[in-house]
Amino acid sequence: MNVEIINTGSELMLGRVLNTHQQWLCRRLADLGHVVTRQVAVADAGNEIQQAVREALGRADLVITTGGLGPTSDDLTRELIAELLGKKLIENKDVLAHIENFFAKRNRPRPAKTSVETFVPEGALVFLNQFGTAPGLALRAGSGAWRPGSEALPVSPDPKPQTRDPILIMLPGPPRELRPMFDASIVPLLQREFADEIFICRTLRSTGVGESRVQEMLETDLQPLVKGGLEIGYCARPGAVDVRLTASGNGAKERISAGEAVVQKILGAHIFGFDDEDIESVIVRLLAAQKKTLSLAESCTGGNIAHRLTNVPGASEIFLGSVVVYANSAKEKFLGVSAKSLLTHGAVSEVVAREMAMGAREKLGSDFAIAVTGIAGPGGGTPEKPVGTVFIALASATKVEVRKMLNPWDRETFKQVTTQQALELLRMALIFT
Ligand code: ATP
Ligand code: MG
Repeated sequence: MNVEIINTGSELMLGRVLNTHQQWLCRRLADLGHVVTRQVAVADAGNEIQQAVREALGRADLVITTGGLGPTSDDLTRELIAELLGKKLIENKDVLAHIENFFAKRNRPRPAKTSVETFVPEGALVFLNQFGTAPGLALRAGSGAWRPGSEALPVSPDPKPQTRDPILIMLPGPPRELRPMFDASIVPLLQREFADEIFICRTLRSTGVGESRVQEMLETDLQPLVKGGLEIGYCARPGAVDVRLTASGNGAKERISAGEAVVQKILGAHIFGFDDEDIESVIVRLLAAQKKTLSLAESCTGGNIAHRLTNVPGASEIFLGSVVVYANSAKEKFLGVSAKSLLTHGAVSEVVAREMAMGAREKLGSDFAIAVTGIAGPGGGTPEKPVGTVFIALASATKVEVRKMLNPWDRETFKQVTTQQALELLRMALIFT
């Protein structure tokens, strides 16, 4: 099945608005089993929009447009598509009532310009906008049309998607309107219309091994499954590599299970989670299960480890606090790091990392403490401790473990990667106890 997205809006082309619909819709559609085959963004200009829609309808089974359904003069999508498909615009009483009610509830007169939003292409399915005025619309691009107000699209006599007229869906631009409308109205529509499409996607998330090494490790053993129709994708993220397995059609479930077994066997403990799970959620889950607590001493990550942990619901059960100690004086004052260690070894050293972790564990009274100290750059590197050098310490009741890493990236990536490595050090300790 071919799915195409057309994001309209001159503000996208001018770089004024980030095209978040592209990612959000691709993600949602992939989760539903419909991988987007092509996506374009075009300006609010007649020929651009019509040309993009015409081309997409020539290839795709499903085309989704976003934006340009509002009442202003640059909102052209509905009119241009109606014109392209030769459909008349007809006033829809439900939309009119919805818009009147929308303004009445807010004690505001209805702007005359909103009248254009009440006109919908003939035969279109209409989705009232729970968070705005302009309705979403769905059309069969060919001769078939749905009776206004009917629940489902006319059933095609031939279930093969290529032989059906493509479906065209128009969604409003504002994310707070588009997202709830997609979930409430478009998901059920797609489930009804494309029920015969089987597609499964499973992501195994690994850490501690680089992207090309992961591929090398898996390639040979996955080869026979790839020949049998399993698709493999690799996605490198700061400090993590996702292995994505996808399969479609009959036997998809079996192919995914077989692929998953191979990846699990080879990557083993490097796999920290599945699908949307991130390492901080895993840490919260593992610590909660073991009824253990954690504190942090953060220098170069500036509180990022604490930030990520506190994004996880339930973090309060396991997380006691973080001391962000940037200056040497703060390391001494709040964590009891010795002035001598700082002077002899420098703030970025194994000894200081160790003392920071022990200090945090003691001061905050936790079972575990992680400390990080490093050189984020771009300045401050030496031949012996180049930019990117970082020491990560993990203190527990019985010992302090210290790792030296080299993360010579920009400051933002440096923080992300270091955070990932710090959490990974703890994860390993938790799963191997
Ligand atoms: P409105 O009734 O608000 O005019 P509309 O359906 O006409 O809605 P647009 O005018 O195209 O939509 O966009 C409205 C706003 O929605 C934009 O100013 C922008 O903030 C946001 N928006 C539009 N398209 C996108 C996109 N692809 N990604 C993220 N935000 C978007
Ligand atoms: Mg608009």
